[in-house]
Amino acid sequence: KIAELIETQTPLSHWPTEFFQVQDNIQHKHILLGEPLEEGLAIRVMLARGTDATLAEIEKSGLRGCGGAGFKTATKWAFCRNTHADERYVVCNADEGEPGTFKDRVLLQSYADLVFEGMTVCARIIGAHQGFLYLRGEYRYLLQPLEAVLAKRREQGLLGEQILGNPNFSFDIKIHLGAGAYVCGAELALIESLEGKRGVPRNRPPFPVTQGYLNKPTVVNNVETFALAARIAVYGGDGFAALGTKQSKGTKLLSISGDCLRPGIYEFPFGVSVREVLEACGAQDTQAVQISGAAGTCLSAKEFDRKIAFEDVATGGSVMIFNRQRDLLEVVRNFAHFFVHESCGFCTPCRVGTSLLKNLVEKVYTGHGTADDLKDMSHISQILKTASHCGLGQTASNHIADTLKKFPEVYRKRLLVEADFEPAFDLDSAL
Ligand code: NAD
Repeated sequence: KIAELIETQTPLSHWPTEFFQVQDNIQHKHILLGEPLEEGLAIRVMLARGTDATLAEIEKSGLRGCGGAGFKTATKWAFCRNTHADERYVVCNADEGEPGTFKDRVLLQSYADLVFEGMTVCARIIGAHQGFLYLRGEYRYLLQPLEAVLAKRREQGLLGEQILGNPNFSFDIKIHLGAGAYVCGAELALIESLEGKRGVPRNRPPFPVTQGYLNKPTVVNNVETFALAARIAVYGGDGFAALGTKQSKGTKLLSISGDCLRPGIYEFPFGVSVREVLEACGAQDTQAVQISGAAGTCLSAKEFDRKIAFEDVATGGSVMIFNRQRDLLEVVRNFAHFFVHESCGFCTPCRVGTSLLKNLVEKVYTGHGTADDLKDMSHISQILKTASHCGLGQTASNHIADTLKKFPEVYRKRLLVEADFEPAFDLDSAL
């Protein structure tokens, strides 16, 4: 069976996939949320195929990091492998903290073997002996079931010393529980936290592939990326690359929440339009869609034909839907409070800027704001974006900048003197 898998470049039609319909006439395939893989199969196929050939399949698949940024997975693994060192590490980022994102939780609940399998394949390719699953503190309830999966895999010879009887293949995985800090999802804050320090992101470069955990070369990937890598290790890269768009191959898991009839986890091929996503989950009368969480992009109805893909709207997987009955300023207010709470306080633009923004949003929300306050909001948003130390601060004002630009009436109708707004303030030139 293994030889057959390796010899035939398994076409997509033979992946263990299930059809689902986005529209009446368009069928797409689940390739991640299909049948669970037979335990150990990805490791067995990888050992038979060889590490170079497995990495070549991952390269061929076009797989990109699923946490949101989309760095090429094969490139990351190759960088790490080619960095001279006496030890290397594999880290699975399961600090899924972006508001509205819950797809990794589902993978860890229902496909944990696939995730650990992907980490083990990565370890063999880069030459690591130790891996970590950094689990967000709020997912503590998953700790015990995940430990049980790891214990079972050790018994099966899929983790630990001499994996599947190979004398020079040892690898194990420890679960490290976070303590509830959103910033620890940033890979270099995560690594600091893993080392027992305060979760303040280190400067990049150096990137983790050269200096990560304990300053050793480290691959940090999202849960979904490892799960997909395991599937690709078994079935090869061609089937995966047959789906998606030119720069965004394969499928993407989306966590869909908000005003729709069928919220939940969906798997779509890259290139699906926001409108198709809305139709699939039964959203009606939609005012705005927040993609990629609080730090992401707010799309207005004019933009619903845009595509979910790295070349258009990139996402880590969060889709929050707001219908026309929602007060968007309430949403903005909620996000503004979130960022004040989650700023680590290390750099001034983020520590002070998020608080100033929250105060201004509150002022407008309670009907005491003026057009000058909106001007200040846009100015402070810009400072956060350009002067913050890490991604948290650089993206903490996106929701404000986006809604000021695309939904000015949401602010205008709350101002103390509504008429002030237009003559005094040219939003486009201010942003
Ligand atoms: P990034 O583009 O800076 O880096 C992406 C990855 O590529 C990292 O692992 C980085 O180490 C690697 N990389 C980039 N350039 C490299 C180079 N020259 N050499 C070697 N490796 C290199 O993005 P980021 O700051 O790591 O992540 C931002 C993303 O995280 C955003 O897209 C955001 O949406 C997402 N995010 C996700 C969540 C979530 O819960 N899933 C939460 C917050 C943010």
